Amino acid sequence: MESAVLLDVQGLRKSFPRPDGGELLVLDDVNLRVADGEIVGLLGRSGSGKSTLLRLIAGLSRPAGGAVSYLGKRVEGPPPGVAIVFQSFALFPWLTVLQNVEIGLEALGLPAAAIRQRALAAIDLIGLDGFESAYPRELSGGMRQRVGFARALVVHPNILLLDEPFSALDVLTAETVRTDFLDLWQEGKLPIKGVVLVTHNIEEAVQMCDRVLLFSTNPGRIIGEIVIDLPQPRDRLDPMFTALVDRIYVAMT
Ligand code: ADP
Ligand code: MG
Repeated sequence: MESAVLLDVQGLRKSFPRPDGGELLVLDDVNLRVADGEIVGLLGRSGSGKSTLLRLIAGLSRPAGGAVSYLGKRVEGPPPGVAIVFQSFALFPWLTVLQNVEIGLEALGLPAAAIRQRALAAIDLIGLDGFESAYPRELSGGMRQRVGFARALVVHPNILLLDEPFSALDVLTAETVRTDFLDLWQEGKLPIKGVVLVTHNIEEAVQMCDRVLLFSTNPGRIIGEIVIDLPQPRDRLDPMFTALVDRIYVAMT
């Protein structure tokens, strides 16, 4: 039996006004589906419209055409089962770790005790136990992004949208946060059903994803798909791994 489709994006278009009065077509006829249990990668260059696409899926901006369906129902505006992790963390500097995570639950109207319990569980899950009352400035970049993950996971979203969540981190820290996330996903410990990972990093896409969609620039359009049928955990020295990286590199250049 096929897994349930969580997210179905059809024919999305988006343009922005240009300073010269013209229009910049950023997304043209973008189609994608995410099924239960999948991590789907969206690989494209800087400026190809990846963040724009995630903002449309998250309901933070409106498309010029096309539709987003979530669990079979067309949605306009922010769908309740979708959360996003931003490249730049987007934490509130004047709030503690706990408060930053609790903010994620504000819209759900839960009782205070339930909010506290859910937030503490998310913080613990993502490896920040003991840092609940720290402020973002007191944390390393990797820990700040863990707060970003906790704030998104705390709502128990069906779909987690990851907008280059590791690209502001140094290579070693990125590797640690990425591996910890992947381990939790593999062990079934994350309160989510599917992931869209936006990245410009081919190795990261091959490491993390079940399928990688290749995204063109000007306008952003999906120009191919590569299924990553390697078992987890993935060994970067495995010739199959490097062959997939090469294949994607060639397809993108
Ligand atoms: P990516 O995330 O792939 O780097 P973005 O989605 O951020 O790309 O941007 C795609 C293109 O759309 C870029 O040319 C960017 O300058 C433009 N763009 C994004 N947001 C806006 C906006 N709010 N107003 C005008 N142009 C925008
Ligand atoms: Mg971006």
